[in-house]
Amino acid sequence: MKIKRATVLLSFLWIMIIAVSFFWNYRQLIQEQERIAFEAGRSFFDQMIITRQWNAIHGGVYVPVTEKTLPNPYLDVPMRDIIINDTLILTKINPAFMTRQISEINNEEKNIQFHITSLNPIRPENKATAREAIFLKDFEKGIKEAGIFTKEGSAASFFYMAPLKTGKSCLTCHAKQGYKEGDVRGGISVTLPFAMKIPLLPLLSGYLLIGTVGLCGIIILGVKLNRAYEIIKRQSLFDALTKIPNRRSFSETIVREFNRSQRNQNPLSIIMGDIDNFKAYNDTYGHSNGDICLNKVAQGIKDSLKRPGDFCARYGGEEFIVILPNTVSDGAIHVAERIRLHIEEMGIIHEKSLPARVVTLSLGVATSKDTMGLVFYEKLIQYADTALYKAKDQGRNQVQSSTEVA
Ligand code: GH3
Ligand code: MG
Ligand code: MG
Repeated sequence: MKIKRATVLLSFLWIMIIAVSFFWNYRQLIQEQERIAFEAGRSFFDQMIITRQWNAIHGGVYVPVTEKTLPNPYLDVPMRDIIINDTLILTKINPAFMTRQISEINNEEKNIQFHITSLNPIRPENKATAREAIFLKDFEKGIKEAGIFTKEGSAASFFYMAPLKTGKSCLTCHAKQGYKEGDVRGGISVTLPFAMKIPLLPLLSGYLLIGTVGLCGIIILGVKLNRAYEIIKRQSLFDALTKIPNRRSFSETIVREFNRSQRNQNPLSIIMGDIDNFKAYNDTYGHSNGDICLNKVAQGIKDSLKRPGDFCARYGGEEFIVILPNTVSDGAIHVAERIRLHIEEMGIIHEKSLPARVVTLSLGVATSKDTMGLVFYEKLIQYADTALYKAKDQGRNQVQSSTEVA
């Protein structure tokens, strides 16, 4: 029972270990993907900041006006547009305009979108989206960066955003909005294609395999241990020669039955039996034939007991003991007589036996009546033994009962 409980407990523990380990591993993989996504977003952002710095260092750069690069209406600086050689019109590109143009190229070629944004934009298109507005407020509280995995249709992306701090060179355009150097005046968001790659199926299959193999191992080991334990337990309670319960088993059973009889106020009887002149049997037919005889007598006693609650054991060498629960003295004497007769009728030849030419038993009976609740079972065994000696004294092959108990 203890082994069964330990096996169940161990199996449960194993399942818990496997489950916790799986979720821990799964979490690690997700964190690793998050780390990669953040690193990718951060490096795009940093690259954009450096490019903008290059532009700001030069106070903006002039490029030819084309259909795609028209003068920036929001750039309110002197000499925004210049004409060279009376033919080539150049317009100034500030960091914001440059960010927009780089973003467009990135979007067309790599599907990566940059968005320069602010809670207080000069250009209406730079107005923050709902998500960007939340992050911008976080940046104002001192948070350094933010990122989130998004999914639009089947396209999975990672949205990264970090604050844009006001540098000295930025003040040329942004001082009029009230920003001072070091203020967070907006942010740049980077949306890049990013699908979380977590090998869930191989991970799950691996854990399932390890879990199942381990569980099978625990169960097989538990079953084998339990079987071995049952065998050892059985061996420790049964007599190796006669295969009936041994004295140890009797000692356990008598305590149980005696307590039960006390509880229920029922009588309990004991029969003690001893083979007559068995030493002579051994001397005549040899020890191994003596063993065979002991075996036959044990089976004979067992076969004489009719009720399922009746119990017989080998008490010692050629002594046997029977417990008859809920049996009064007369009933016990009747059972003892039945045993005696059955053994005699088995007709196991014993030339040297004094009472008959066959193997016989002498039996002593003792009964604890319900009125004798205080009789300890050891006393009961003693009374049965006394009765057995009386049977031996009076010529063997007979049943005697203990008058002290009756
Ligand atoms: P009584 O009628 O007075 O009981 O005489 P007895 O010869 O049966 O009694 P005694 O106690 O003198 O002898 C018991 C014998 O039982 C002695 C011993 O060799 C034999 N014996 C005890 N255990 C075994 C056993 O396991 N196998 C065999 N073959 N003999 C055993
Ligand atoms: Mg004896
Ligand atoms: Mg004997």
